[in-house]
Amino acid sequence: MSQHETVDTLVIGSGPGGYVAALRAAQLGMKTAVVERSHLGGVCTHVGCIPSKALIAEAHRFDLHRQWNQADGSDFFKNAQAFKQGIVMKQAGGVNYLLKTAGVTILEGEASFIDEHTVAIKQTRKTDHMISFKHAILATGSRPIELQALPFGGRILSSTEALSLSQIPTSLIIIGGGYIGVELGQMYAKFGTEVTILEGGGQVLPGFEAELAVPVIRRLKADGINIITGATAVKAEQHADTLTLHYLKNQEQHLVNAEYALVTVGRKPNTDGSLGLERINLQVSSRGLIETDEQCRTAIPHIFAIGDITKGPALAHKASYEAKVAAEVIAGNPSVVDYKAIPLVVFSEPELASVGLTETEAKAKSIPVVIGKSSFGINGRALALQAAEGFVKIIAEQTSGILMGAQIVGVEASTLISELTLAIEMGATVEDLALTIHPHPTLGEVIMEAAENAVRKIR
Ligand code: FAD
Repeated sequence: MSQHETVDTLVIGSGPGGYVAALRAAQLGMKTAVVERSHLGGVCTHVGCIPSKALIAEAHRFDLHRQWNQADGSDFFKNAQAFKQGIVMKQAGGVNYLLKTAGVTILEGEASFIDEHTVAIKQTRKTDHMISFKHAILATGSRPIELQALPFGGRILSSTEALSLSQIPTSLIIIGGGYIGVELGQMYAKFGTEVTILEGGGQVLPGFEAELAVPVIRRLKADGINIITGATAVKAEQHADTLTLHYLKNQEQHLVNAEYALVTVGRKPNTDGSLGLERINLQVSSRGLIETDEQCRTAIPHIFAIGDITKGPALAHKASYEAKVAAEVIAGNPSVVDYKAIPLVVFSEPELASVGLTETEAKAKSIPVVIGKSSFGINGRALALQAAEGFVKIIAEQTSGILMGAQIVGVEASTLISELTLAIEMGATVEDLALTIHPHPTLGEVIMEAAENAVRKIR
């Protein structure tokens, strides 16, 4: 590409939002470029979904191995890190291959708006590269929120550093018991780290109904994790080999010592800094989010925004979904977002997954619903896997039986939730689910039985 060229669609950021948007735009015949200031594939590929799930899988394998062999984790961990990095590189290579074969121009550097149709791309030690565009898709993602009292550095880690430690820490305090804190906490506990989770609310995994969180919390405790709820971290003192964290609970100060503290209190959208949204007068909310309409369009009609910089759950598949909508809209196709079925998964043991409405939300909105439930406890496949903990919960409209939501806590919840997501997306009823022949013996039978349970309540 020459020093100043025009493309149909310029995508800023190459995470699961940006690279999918660029790919779809190119497939739809647009001249497309994607700008990335760091690594192709974004947070998800390099420091998010992929490396965390690779290490979590290794931690499970180590845990099983240890039960048989009383093995020491240090060598295993080094190999696990190498295994993780191999997967990250494979995935990033896949993104590169897909974009190149689709004809997308990949531009390395940091994008900065000059005006509503021009971006400067800053590359270290090179002059700025200018690019003009007819349409732009912003997909700049997010970064870990830093607490003022506990700035990142030294023994205070963000999830990024926590995924790249070269040795298993002897002890770790996690501040924030959301899904990232729980996943990484359990992973390190399985590798043998003494883990403490500090959570400000009344329960870890605060977004989940208590009955769903309970089996996970039980397992976290069985893995030796110390959970302290209603606790606020106040400050930390870093020493040569350890760190002392001060926290408040019931208005009293307490201390806890560990080798590292990991802060997982949420993510901040990358809409500030050199991106220069102020130069195009594109407003962001107090949380840094960009407002979009149902076609992912910002207040500037030819500029779209997707993924973690927009409202809704900060999840890779939500970013990719919006990416396709934005690209289709730019191509002139009649596409809009429909958020009624965005699955959410916690890769804990047992896994936790939710899609659509919860019982609590239905009650709060006074929507009459029936609840169907069935347990993994009597499922042959779950018993064979020695993973019979947990249940499936289905929420359906009371008179029609149309599925409105579902939650699963148990083995392979991450995979099983897709059947229920499809059912919601298609407007299926609990009777449809109950009458679908599920293979035996499989975990999916628990979904069928939960649906049967709901059907009996409708009749
Ligand atoms: P990102 O993936 O954040 O990508 C944005 C890209 O834009 C980055 O590469 C950045 O370098 C680039 N960029 C930013 N500004 C500029 C600029 N000015 N110029 C050029 N490039 C720029 N989600 C799930 O769905 N499932 C999971 O299991 C899961 N696990 C996670 C585990 C961890 C530890 C973390 C941290 C996150 C996890 N997530 C998970 C969340 C998921 O990673 C994000 O929701 C997803 O990456 C968001 O995609 P995105 O395309 O919006 O942005």
